[in-house]
Amino acid sequence: MIDAVMPTYTRTPMGFERGEGCWLYDTEGNKYLDAGAGIAVSSLGHCNPVLIEALVNQAEKVWHTSNLYRIPKQEELASLLVQNTFADTVFFTNSGAEAVECTVKMMRKYWSAAGQPDRHQVITLKSSFHGRTIGMISASGGEKLTKGFGPILPGFVQVEEPSIKKIAKIISTNTAGILVEPVMGEGGIIPLGDSFLRNLRLLCDDHNILLALDEIQCGMGRTGKLFAHEWANIRPDIMAIAKGIGGGFPLGACLATEKAAYAMQAGTHGSTYGGNPLACAVGCQVLKTIADDVFLKNVRNSARWLRQQLESVIATYPDIFTEVRGEGLMLGIKCKVSNLDVVNSCYDQLLLTVPGGDNVIRILPPLIISEDELKQMIDKLENAASSLKDKQNA
Ligand SMILES: *Cc1c(COP(=O)(O)O)cnc(C)c1O
Repeated sequence: MIDAVMPTYTRTPMGFERGEGCWLYDTEGNKYLDAGAGIAVSSLGHCNPVLIEALVNQAEKVWHTSNLYRIPKQEELASLLVQNTFADTVFFTNSGAEAVECTVKMMRKYWSAAGQPDRHQVITLKSSFHGRTIGMISASGGEKLTKGFGPILPGFVQVEEPSIKKIAKIISTNTAGILVEPVMGEGGIIPLGDSFLRNLRLLCDDHNILLALDEIQCGMGRTGKLFAHEWANIRPDIMAIAKGIGGGFPLGACLATEKAAYAMQAGTHGSTYGGNPLACAVGCQVLKTIADDVFLKNVRNSARWLRQQLESVIATYPDIFTEVRGEGLMLGIKCKVSNLDVVNSCYDQLLLTVPGGDNVIRILPPLIISEDELKQMIDKLENAASSLKDKQNA
């Protein structure tokens, strides 16, 4: 008989009933160190008192009114996002996929309103991940996402590898813009790099097309800057965010310049829940906390230390690991053995990591992780590697 919960995930058996900071407690009483943060979502840790207060305060006032009326918390969060980014305007969603959907709709509307409706094609990268709607699996195009769900939508073309030359070759009079993740997440923690992003910006400028970034996983302080593209010192036209901005409450957003959003007029797009008072109350606190020089400097310091330690773990266990890559606290360790075996071995050590594409395990801890907790993470990872090595030798 089919499970009451539709079996679209291969779930591990433990279930968590309580969390605090970087720690999760399962129903058996085990205490796990969370180096996955629910896939880069719980950016300020579990049950952060500041976020609890924001949520409870709002819960006692009003939960939902719809976007038929002004939502003060939504306006506050939009202003904060505008103050802290390239953007002039923000559309709120409940999830990442919806945020990228808005991005793609905006690109098409932009050209349609400019009298060039044939410019509807968006260039993306192979191995990219933009969510699970029909639109977003069509954007990524990967067999793993699309198989059996066809017909997928036209209007997307994937480039085999992040190469400016290859992208330049497929730009045509049908191209609306380019959509990439500055650090690819699900694909296996693949940073596109500062010079690539700068050249991509120049390419879009040369061809007068739109540059859209998906910072759903790599944004919100994850790389040690508020947004990953800031390392390359570029400004996109549109950006999708989600995950970390809600700190565990479902929240996403599509940020844009005034120019890119000029055709998104009243009645063109909407969402019943998007920008809901509860989500935005939490989002405001998350953003105020992370968009702070001292906070981000701490992330960079933690990241530097963690990276050095990981390099040495890899050097000690060359039969298990091959390399570490990524930016800030968005790291991928490429495995020589199956990444799923490594993730399982980490579970045995009460450490939560997340598998990713290209046989990596992802390290995406809450951004507030302390030095002592990072040390415990390294110890657990070494124990996991050591026990895998013992098994290999047995
Ligand atoms: C998680 C993710 C998405 C999809 O977000 P959902 O909230 O699951 O819809 C899109 N893009 C990237 C880069 C992601 O990491």
